[in-house]
Amino acid sequence: MSRESIEKALARATDTKACVIGEGSLAEVPALFKEHFSCAGSAVVVCDPRTRKAAGERVEALLSDAGLRVSEYVLEPGGATFHADYRYVEEVREAIRKSLDGKSAGEVVPVAVGSGVINDLVKLASGELGLPYMVCATAASVDGYSSFGAAIRSPEGAKQTYSCPAPKVIVADFEVMRTAPKWMAASGFADLMAKVPAGADWILAYELGASEWHDSSWHTVQDGLKEAIGNPEGVASMETEPLTRFVEGLMLGGFAMQDMQSSRPASGAEHLFSHLLEMRDHTFKGDIVPHGIQVGVFTLFMSRVYEKMLAYDYSNLDVEACLRNWKTLEEQERIGAEVFAGTKFPELGVKTVRAKYVDADTMRKRLESFKARWPEIKARLEGQLVPSVEIERSLKVVGAPVSPDEIGSTVAASLADARRTIFMRDRYMALDFLALTGQLDDFAERSFVA
Ligand SMILES: [Zn+2]
Repeated sequence: MSRESIEKALARATDTKACVIGEGSLAEVPALFKEHFSCAGSAVVVCDPRTRKAAGERVEALLSDAGLRVSEYVLEPGGATFHADYRYVEEVREAIRKSLDGKSAGEVVPVAVGSGVINDLVKLASGELGLPYMVCATAASVDGYSSFGAAIRSPEGAKQTYSCPAPKVIVADFEVMRTAPKWMAASGFADLMAKVPAGADWILAYELGASEWHDSSWHTVQDGLKEAIGNPEGVASMETEPLTRFVEGLMLGGFAMQDMQSSRPASGAEHLFSHLLEMRDHTFKGDIVPHGIQVGVFTLFMSRVYEKMLAYDYSNLDVEACLRNWKTLEEQERIGAEVFAGTKFPELGVKTVRAKYVDADTMRKRLESFKARWPEIKARLEGQLVPSVEIERSLKVVGAPVSPDEIGSTVAASLADARRTIFMRDRYMALDFLALTGQLDDFAERSFVA
């Protein structure tokens, strides 16, 4: 884990050509701009009032001192935090389009100065205009900087990943990141810790024949992960060394998604709980709960669920009993339709059921093979997981919540969501498996208590 991992990831990256992380790296913005974009170009800096102060003004000054034409667009949604709603993408896109007026596409370069939301908005707006862009990350709050696709809330209110290229150039300056509110690094750190149970979900799904494997993406995320999350105290105090490993870890998560063109390497069930909350416009004390902060709560939950699974001997799995829980496609569709009935996305459950469905015979074969290979699968999962007490401790050290009530939800709502996650994405997880074995409710209930 080091600069080397970033270089390796860059070599495989389809869109990103440079990723500069460290103290004072903002100073490199003009040189990076000239190296990777047309020198005749003009930059459109997109920020919000907070990120403008944190870095936007400085980026503008650096670029114009270097002889580049610079304009700025300040997004003012009103409020400290806001959702990445599609209407903001349109707003940003129109602002960029205006500066394109009369110029050819290569002459205008959007420069996002901000954290997850600003980056996602500019990423999609730039993608829609066919323009490569640069991002100056102002907080270590998400792994989405370097990922393909943008997590945007559609006009219907469903959070979805819109396909669009990753940034061509990424700059992450620690001096800027230190000025961000504390919760932002806590959010990013929790989002990075999520790669532990997310990786376990991927192993489990693959071993059950329900997911493809992508080796380079796996190694990009997982190889240095334990080191990257190993010093929460250092991250809490934003020391250079632990911050380097942590921010590199976040970037590597994004690069893995860019490589696989899927969020599988970086997200498992813990992310789906968060997506469910967002779909319901969840707020706590009037504020949006940041992505990673939500994800952290369910990262701890999933770690506990996995511990219960590892304590169980699936060599004795009653495959026929599991199959009795595996309903016909029609029955599953009916259940899928009920799950999101009355919401803004009533089709989601049925769509997911169809994508995940295999016939009972295929399922039998999968379960038989899983049962026979349980000792080796168990060993693989044990190698992947981090004890839940450690996850809990780390979350607390960086200042991230650990229970649903700390983010304005409840254990009861989260338990209901545990079942809903299965109907959200074509992504097999431990929770799918536990629904089959009949252990889902029991394990889930016991995993929300300390
Ligand atoms: Zn995430």
